[in-house]
Amino acid sequence: MVNTYQLEVVESTNKKDKPLHDQVPFGTIFTDHMFTLEYEEGKGWHEPKIVPYGPITLDPAAMIFHYGQTVFEGMKAYRTEDGRVLLFRPEKNFERLNLSSERLSIPPVDEKAMLEYLTELIKLEKNWVPATQGTSLYIRPFIISTEANLAVAPAKAYKLMIILSPVGSYFTGGLTPVIIHVEDQFTRAVKGGTGMAKTAGNYSSGYQAQANAKKAGNADVLWLDGIEKKYIEEVGSMNIFFKINGEIVTPALNGSILNGITRTSIIELLGSWGISVAQRKVSVNEIYEAYEAGQLEEVFGTGTAAVISPVGELNWQGKKMVVNNHQIGELSQKLYDTITGIQTGKVEDPLGWTVEVK
Ligand SMILES: *Cc1c(COP(=O)(O)O)cnc(C)c1O
Repeated sequence: MVNTYQLEVVESTNKKDKPLHDQVPFGTIFTDHMFTLEYEEGKGWHEPKIVPYGPITLDPAAMIFHYGQTVFEGMKAYRTEDGRVLLFRPEKNFERLNLSSERLSIPPVDEKAMLEYLTELIKLEKNWVPATQGTSLYIRPFIISTEANLAVAPAKAYKLMIILSPVGSYFTGGLTPVIIHVEDQFTRAVKGGTGMAKTAGNYSSGYQAQANAKKAGNADVLWLDGIEKKYIEEVGSMNIFFKINGEIVTPALNGSILNGITRTSIIELLGSWGISVAQRKVSVNEIYEAYEAGQLEEVFGTGTAAVISPVGELNWQGKKMVVNNHQIGELSQKLYDTITGIQTGKVEDPLGWTVEVK
């Protein structure tokens, strides 16, 4: 191993108290340490460090502030009943980080090394992985461009960090179906844009639509394709599935939809049960027609945060589609129980998805 890859660990001498209960709002409490890695043109990624969690200093001309050259990931560490700590398909997150980076002209990282660094960080912060049912330690790797330069061009210097945040149960009172607004004014992403990357601008550009939807009593928006406003893409930070007259359907990855690891896992899990998922274009008209015909059986969002988020109602151009009488569908519940069961070691992991941190 080259010297620049040797991990340096600086332990915190001022450890924080852990939150007493796990009902903390998402992403507001951070652990004692964070991981940092630097990039410089000519030198590559170097100086891996685990240091006490805290603010960082950046030049006001750092390119991240001006042109938003940044990518991120979201994953979790779970506590099993017998006290072990599991990660869920973590290699997929670093693979996707590199895909996002490619789109944003950020240099790729060594995926294997990243997994090793993450493992060391989690090992050090093991006591921060909460044990209450439904809780986990949220992991946020991200990269920012740090070069001080106002030129509109890819930066020559970057910083990668991993921060950790204990999170409570997404649904405090059990799985609760949400109300979703089908957005036909604003656009999240278009083919050829950055929709397939986890990059900052995709999210802040959705806030206005989300705020409008919330004012009207919806929890989030379902985005349609940016050109015809006809085909379904995904929810804020979740992919979407429909059960129509027995068939499971999800929009095909088309370059503007984020390739969710939960989405992939659901398709593979259903496949292992002998149930195929049609990945194709799904028009909102098709969904409305299925609803009118009484064939819209289940709708659910999928993502790391909630795993499965049942949708109880879709609102589109003043038309209301109530799904399964605002109740959780049988398949949604079964998928939720199985995937969260695998993640926390309660259910056998036949597809080898979990990685123990030890
Ligand atoms: C992160 C994300 C998802 C879900 O991805 P997972 O890997 O399943 O967590 C879906 N859509 C968007 C826009 C996202 O940012």
